[in-house]
Amino acid sequence: MVNVPELFGSNVFNDDVMKDKLPKPVYKALKKTIQEGASLDDSLANAVAHAMKEWAIEKGCTHYTHWFQPLTGVTAEKHDSFITPDGDGKVMMTFSGKELIKGEPDASSFPSGGIRATFEARGYTAWDPTSPAFAKDGTLYIPTAFCSYKGEVLDKKTPLLRSMETLSKEAVRVLHLLGKTEVNRVITTVGPEQEYFLIDKKMYDARPDLIFTGRTLFGAPAPKGQELDDHYFGSIKTRVSEFMAELDKELWSYGIYAKTEHNEVAPSQHEVAPIYTTTNVAVDNNELLMEILKKTAEKFDLVCLLHEKPFAGVNGSGKHNNWSISTNTGENLLKPGKNPSENVQFLVFLAAIVKAVDEYQDLLRISVASAGNDHRLGANEAPPAILSVFLGDDLGAVVDSIEIGEEHESEGKKNMDLGVEVLPTVRKDTTDRNRTSPFAFTGNRFEFRMLGSAANIASANIIINTIVAESLKEFADRLETVKDVKSAAKRLVVRTFKKHDRIIFNGDNYSDWWVEEAERRGLYNLRSVPDAIKHYIDKKNVELFKKNDVFTFEELEARYEVELENYVKLINIEALTMLDMSKKDIIPAVTKYVKKLTDTALAKQSLSPDIPTSLERELIIDLSKQLVSFSECIKKLEDDLAKASKFSDDNQACADFYCYTIIEDMEKLRKIGDSMETQTASKYWPYPSYGEMLFGV
Ligand code: ADP
Ligand code: MG
Repeated sequence: MVNVPELFGSNVFNDDVMKDKLPKPVYKALKKTIQEGASLDDSLANAVAHAMKEWAIEKGCTHYTHWFQPLTGVTAEKHDSFITPDGDGKVMMTFSGKELIKGEPDASSFPSGGIRATFEARGYTAWDPTSPAFAKDGTLYIPTAFCSYKGEVLDKKTPLLRSMETLSKEAVRVLHLLGKTEVNRVITTVGPEQEYFLIDKKMYDARPDLIFTGRTLFGAPAPKGQELDDHYFGSIKTRVSEFMAELDKELWSYGIYAKTEHNEVAPSQHEVAPIYTTTNVAVDNNELLMEILKKTAEKFDLVCLLHEKPFAGVNGSGKHNNWSISTNTGENLLKPGKNPSENVQFLVFLAAIVKAVDEYQDLLRISVASAGNDHRLGANEAPPAILSVFLGDDLGAVVDSIEIGEEHESEGKKNMDLGVEVLPTVRKDTTDRNRTSPFAFTGNRFEFRMLGSAANIASANIIINTIVAESLKEFADRLETVKDVKSAAKRLVVRTFKKHDRIIFNGDNYSDWWVEEAERRGLYNLRSVPDAIKHYIDKKNVELFKKNDVFTFEELEARYEVELENYVKLINIEALTMLDMSKKDIIPAVTKYVKKLTDTALAKQSLSPDIPTSLERELIIDLSKQLVSFSECIKKLEDDLAKASKFSDDNQACADFYCYTIIEDMEKLRKIGDSMETQTASKYWPYPSYGEMLFGV
């Protein structure tokens, strides 16, 4: 039996450990830093570093690392040991406040989008004291932010912290205006639900496409897909449930509140959801969770696939980012509450979010844009690439009544009040479940569902925090100029809902009708990475980030360039992998099978010309024709890849070319490959089939 309370957080330098290990004044100062964002002076940092080191050594650590999140999409770490020569040929284990606070990894190998000239290799990592350090594999991990020598951000953590700051500042302004003067800080909370696939390690090892790209580039559908829906919440297989039990133990030891584990819609697909926590901690936890998922799978001879679309024609994997805002006094600002006067405050925040999503649909779409997610948005289960907000029937009615309220405004204040007073108390969980909406209100939070399973959730939360901060800033600016704030706030809510009505949609987001309707409403439908990310540097977006101190123009432009480069590199690897598989495995396999058929036909004929060989002949002809088309497709893809290499200085044009030409070439090649798979005897086919992979665990 596992003792969960004892196990929980045992690898984390958490509050209990701090209380235990730190002198009281140091503990208090550190808490202040964590809770209020105050800065920490050198002597305190030394004391914290010492305690951390002592604790880490008890946990078996010999090294420490500044753990950071560069723009590559995976976490990075550089390990240093605690040893220092003591002058007598021996060593001491030391760790100073300076080493805790600042690191200098060689920054030249991380993408910077041209911000940092390659000769200027210096970059800094800076301790994020608000996310707890932890001990893993003999190393003390210190969550950090990463920036260039001149202070430009080169990671996902720094802008996230900046966005949390700006949101807090603007939300506090609004709350003070509404009379909540006791609030001095607002935090955003996130609970990400993570989807993933588990397949057998042996099958994975036999597929170069999975090894190099994380998704299958060839593969005909299995006879059974997910049409029976018999997997969702179905009973979990023994090997998988053993995996999940081990996963929970691991996650708990790192202080991750793993709560829900279940099967997902597709065969071999599962989900894990931790309980929500402060956003930057949730981001770090999710990065760690993805790593632990992969490592734990290995222990069971399984491989965890985090790609958004590992299998064509089968549901992809996403990540639902449950997001809310709460005050330092413990109030969730997205809780509709019981009495109408509190509802005004709730409605102001709700209106701010609706306005934000409408005005910055493009940025939300960009925040989830990745080559992998392009296969998913719009397909099967996933939300389409169009942003809209779901409020549910209850809240929808509330908003409707508010809008009507204003229609009668001319009759005086009474109606206006009525408009608000008739608001029903929206109880938690009364929102009906609309699983198709990309941005859904779910009782006390919003669930942003467009994120891909492999994404760093920082990207989406940077945007949500910033755009909501911007709405709140505008609200606060306005409300600061009036005498009667409450009634002005009500009018503001009405106006905002009316103005941004088009973004609210409570129907079926997967229907074709919605795609047309969204176009009529003038909503964005940005279908691919290159289409979406060019809006990064639209004037309104540049201004937004600058105004809210989240990105300078240079930082934003750098991000845009890095994302274009990442996209091109990724598709390029996929294309090269396909070519390799086609030429080295598929053509030889089919050719061998055709030879076998030919030998069989000839043998039959030599036995007696009366034995029919029409089956072999037909197959030989059919497969031979397909081999010719297949090799034509190979040639076309190779020629286009050669053309792509000429776009060297125009990243956008290059990404467009990959998106519209290379991907189309790849799809054509795949189509013939998959068709040949269905006609080739399985013992000749070089790779495990979809059926074997999806039903093989
Ligand atoms: P469902 O699958 O129905 O969407 P889950 O229970 O799987 O629900 O996931 C809901 C997620 O929302 C959990 O991670 C939960 O902790 C999180 N959540 C609940 N309340 C909040 C909140 N106030 N802020 C952020 N996340 C929240
Ligand atoms: Mg969900």
